[in-house]
Amino acid sequence: MAKSVRSYSSALTQLRRYLLDNDKRPTKVREMVLEQVCNLPQPFTADQLVKACEAERISTGTVYNTLNLLIDAQVIHATKRQRGKAATEFEVITGSANRMQLVCAKCGRTADFTDPAIARLIKTRKYYNFILRSYSLIAYGECKVCRKKTIKKLT
Ligand SMILES: [Zn+2]
Repeated sequence: MAKSVRSYSSALTQLRRYLLDNDKRPTKVREMVLEQVCNLPQPFTADQLVKACEAERISTGTVYNTLNLLIDAQVIHATKRQRGKAATEFEVITGSANRMQLVCAKCGRTADFTDPAIARLIKTRKYYNFILRSYSLIAYGECKVCRKKTIKKLT
């Protein structure tokens, strides 16, 4: 499944804006945690992040605090727990660029897709008193893995 991870710089801009808007201090350690978040394969678990931050001598408490902060700032979000996986997984929210995404309504798996015909159609649409800058299209359904399980149940 192709996944476009947003660059560190745009995630950093969003974090700084959030901190400023909420009268919170922009600290070097928070930015270091964010850097680790962006370097991890997506999605990632809190444990993976703690491990990555250990090398930078960042305490576990700070990692968890920053994780919550990044969720509040909408830099990352918790993905739906997948069956058979104990830990919640987190993922960097991709930027405001046009995107199309398939989401499995059963397990929460996501995959990006491109459809030039739909993209062209949206681009040429005119909306009254509105200039379209970007869009996000999410299609819900059932992934291959869940589909297989459904078929197994039926037979
Ligand atoms: Zn699924």
